[in-house]
Amino acid sequence: MTGTAAVGELEQALDDIACEMATRTDRGNVATYIPQLGRINAGAFGIAVATHDGQVLTAGDAELTFSIQSISKVFTLTLALGSIGDQLWRRVGREPSGNPFNSIIQLEHENGIPRNPFINAGAIVLADVLLGGHEPREAIGEILRFVQFLTDDDTITIDAAVAASERATGFRNFALANYMKSFGNLHHAPEHSLGVYFHHCAIAMNCRQLALAGRFLANGGTNPATGFSVISAERARRIAALMLTCGHYDGSGDFAFRVGIPGKSGVGGGILGVVPGIASMAVWSPGLNENGNSKLGSIALEMLAKRMNWSIFAP
Ligand code: GLN
Repeated sequence: MTGTAAVGELEQALDDIACEMATRTDRGNVATYIPQLGRINAGAFGIAVATHDGQVLTAGDAELTFSIQSISKVFTLTLALGSIGDQLWRRVGREPSGNPFNSIIQLEHENGIPRNPFINAGAIVLADVLLGGHEPREAIGEILRFVQFLTDDDTITIDAAVAASERATGFRNFALANYMKSFGNLHHAPEHSLGVYFHHCAIAMNCRQLALAGRFLANGGTNPATGFSVISAERARRIAALMLTCGHYDGSGDFAFRVGIPGKSGVGGGILGVVPGIASMAVWSPGLNENGNSKLGSIALEMLAKRMNWSIFAP
């Protein structure tokens, strides 16, 4: 992304998209199965883009914080690979699930090995890896500090009310964790792995911060602002591939078809997107579609990718 013309075009695109989204009445439904998330006003919309040359452009409610939920799984996957490397793939698969994010059905057929790291079961295994014999509190602190490091912003926190709300109603996640434990695929007490999981899902960020946190994935593993290598280029490429194939659960194929960039959604209504070599971006609109992905967020990214010719399949 170079040149003032291109930046001007991007600025205009973000403003146009935010204006259009403000008028939409078909905003999807806010997740209510985590009661604390059910309190969010579905009227919000924010978008932010961090370009590889260090600019951050925003529109709408890009400074309002929201619960990043499953988007955090991109960061825990990065940390878990850093911790145990390719051994991770003995405990988690790399295939799209074609099932809802909290489905239990495949786990029995596949002997407690979750299909991929982004469905809930897979992310609970990541949390178990990150526990690594430590107290849950220490693993949670490590994840939060990693996100703060990526954004260079230590104001980012965990929303304790969201974490408590999810724990109080997380019967399905408890079922997934206990079931995997029975196959030997959790090494710690399920309530400890889940404690880590619930807390990283409850990290609160705004679109600007999230776009900044995703920069290393759009830049071959290196933070373009500092020049520091976070992970190898090969690992960044592979994480982006998993975002494309698995980042939107059973809506991943449709997101790839319509938007054409690696993305990770969360039930808080956020989506993190990366266009390798060009930009990372975050969008937030709390109303969800039938697959539990942000309804307007997906539409907004489709509009943006089309307008900027950002699909990774575009010549
Ligand atoms: N914390 C949520 C859950 O476990 C995450 C789901 C999501 O964002 N898709 O249900």
